[in-house]
Amino acid sequence: MPECEETRVRTTRPPRVACKRESLVITVFDGAEAIYTFDHAGRFLSAWAGYRLYRRALDGRVMRKHTDRAGRHPRRNRIFLDGEARAAITDAAARSAEEALDALHDGTAEIVWSLPGDPDAGRAAEHLEAAARFDARAADADALRYAAVYAPVPILPPDRYRSLVVQVTEGCHWNRCTFCSFYRARPFRIKPLDEYAAHLDGIRAFFGPGLTLRRGAFLGDANALLLPAADLVPRIELLARALPEHAGDLAAFIDVFTGGRRDHRELAALRARGLRRIYLGLESGDDGLLEFLNKPQSAAEAIGLAHAARDAGMAVGIIVMAGIGGDAFWPRHVEATLAAIRAMELGAGDLLYVSAFSAPQTGPYAERAGAAGVKPLTEDEVWDQVDELVAGSKTALGPGARVARYDIEEFIY
Ligand code: SF4
Repeated sequence: MPECEETRVRTTRPPRVACKRESLVITVFDGAEAIYTFDHAGRFLSAWAGYRLYRRALDGRVMRKHTDRAGRHPRRNRIFLDGEARAAITDAAARSAEEALDALHDGTAEIVWSLPGDPDAGRAAEHLEAAARFDARAADADALRYAAVYAPVPILPPDRYRSLVVQVTEGCHWNRCTFCSFYRARPFRIKPLDEYAAHLDGIRAFFGPGLTLRRGAFLGDANALLLPAADLVPRIELLARALPEHAGDLAAFIDVFTGGRRDHRELAALRARGLRRIYLGLESGDDGLLEFLNKPQSAAEAIGLAHAARDAGMAVGIIVMAGIGGDAFWPRHVEATLAAIRAMELGAGDLLYVSAFSAPQTGPYAERAGAAGVKPLTEDEVWDQVDELVAGSKTALGPGARVARYDIEEFIY
C-alpha cells in the first residue's frame, strides 16, 4: 500500500484532542487509531499510524520505525522517508488537525485538558489552527528556518532528547576517535560571543510557543565544556537572560582529555550556574581498547572525572559501547568496563547508558580492525554483549543509579 494510503485519515468517530502542557495530541479513528503529536507552535512531531511510528526531526527528515520481535533479540527497523512519503504523513497530520477543528466547532470533539487554567475551546482552537497550517509545504519552510539557526545535531543522550540544544561550540575538538563520525565533516569552533547571542535569539524565535516542549538546555556540541570558565560563564549568563526557563537545568557532554583538567572549584562554579549533569563517553574500561579506538583517555582518568563531577554536586551519565572491539576484545572489554563503572561509585541520579555498536564497513575503525584482524560481532552478538553489560551493571552500580540501553541510531533532534 502506498504511504499516502496507509496514513490517510478516514474519521469514523469524532477526534480526541489532548491539550497538554508541552504538546498537542490528536487522536483520530478510522477503525484503527492514528495519533498525531505537535508542539505548541503547531510543528508536527510524531505520528502513530498504520502500525508504524513516525518521528519528524526539526531538519525536516521523518523517521519511520518498527520492531520485529522474532529472533533472539528484537530488530529495530528505521528508515528515513523519501520526499513523497514525508509529505504524505505531514499532510495527514495537518488534516487530522483540520478534522479536530471541525469537530471542536460542531461540539463533537473529545477534549482532554491539562494546560494551566480551565478548559478553553478558544485556546484549543488556536493550537489546532497552528497544527492544521503545518502541512508539507510549511514543514519544508520550517526546516529551512531551523537550518539557519542550527548546525546539524547528530546526537544527544536519551534523557535529553527533548532538551533545548544551544550550540556554544560546534563539532568535536578531538574528532579522531576511529569509531565516531558524528562531527567528522565539521571543523571544531567556538562561537564568538556576538554570533552566540544571535544564535540564542534565533532559537527563541524559531521555537516560539514550541519551547514548552523543551526541558532544560544542552550545551552543544561534543565538548563545549572545554571552554575556560572565563569564556563559558558569560555564555551561560547570556543563555539565562535569553532563555531563562531553560537555564536552570543544563547538561553537556564532557571529555576526559579536557574535562579532566578542571579542578573542583571550576566544576562547582559550573554546577552553581545550573550545570546539573555531564555525560562522559567512557566507551570501554579497557585501556588497550581505548588505544585501539584512538580515544585519548584512560579508564583511570575517566573514573577520576566522574568522581570530580559528583563531588561538585553534578550527576553523571556514562556511556559505554557494547560490541566495540569485536571478537578480539570480548570478554576483557566487558570485564574492564564493569570494573570501571564499579570504581566510579555511581549513585542516585547517575545514569549508565549501554550503546550497541554497529561496526562500519569503511572508515578508520574498519581499516584499523581489518589490519589487526579484529572481526566485528554479529548483530545478535552485539545485543548479547549489551545484555551482559546491563546485567553486570546491576552489581556495579550504587543505589539509585540507573542503567538503560542507548540506541544512537534512533536519535533525531
Ligand atoms: S571525543 Fe566524542 S565526539 Fe569526539 S571523536 Fe571521540 S567519540 Fe566522537
